[in-house]
Amino acid sequence: MIEQEKVNMKICSNKNCEFAGIEQSILNFGKNKRNKDNLLNYCKFCKAGHDKKYRNKNKSKVKKRQKIWYEDNKEKVIERIKQNYELNKEQKKDYGKRYFKKNRLQIKVKRARYYIENKNYFKQYRSNNKNKIKIYSATYRKNNKEIIKKNRKEYSQKNKLKRNKYIKNKLKQDPIFKLRCYVSIAINRVFKKLNLKKDNPTWTKLPYTPQDLKKYLENLFEPWMTWKNHRHL
Ligand SMILES: [Zn+2]
Repeated sequence: MIEQEKVNMKICSNKNCEFAGIEQSILNFGKNKRNKDNLLNYCKFCKAGHDKKYRNKNKSKVKKRQKIWYEDNKEKVIERIKQNYELNKEQKKDYGKRYFKKNRLQIKVKRARYYIENKNYFKQYRSNNKNKIKIYSATYRKNNKEIIKKNRKEYSQKNKLKRNKYIKNKLKQDPIFKLRCYVSIAINRVFKKLNLKKDNPTWTKLPYTPQDLKKYLENLFEPWMTWKNHRHL
């Protein structure tokens, strides 16, 4: 017999469901090896309803049995999950990405809450695995250079206004920050003019710190001068 014919015959065969007393396709019946036709005596719809009722009535019993079954079949289950994952890897990754995008806020809140609730655990883990984390981070950075660069660029573009506002405010409030910025800018300008490349951060090469410079300049102040009424360079 051709395979397709076999399938057709199967679809056409009917069986009476003992529960509902309704005849229907044998495709709606689960398996039971003890029966002659290898099928259960009631259909899958009746079985689902019956099983649900049973589970609700015997919750703790079912839970206990499930736990025992899981302990006995743990390796098999884990293996099956792994296999399943490998088979549908790309699809799952795609789904995960889409899910994350859609539920970003909820996931973030959930993660933050979880972190706060288990702060001590994470702290302990980090201090116990310092080296492991270091190696992992370095490897990640090495393998994902392009992505990191792209993300950083995107972030800075997205937060340009916010950052500008922050810097403007800090320049007004914090004289040391102001000196640090203005001296860096002035030195950068000179380097650019001379076509030189600066390969160290400005302040590591200067013989004084921004704090020293602030004190020095304050000593030169006239009585009416303050950091608030300073004019731009
Ligand atoms: Zn039925």
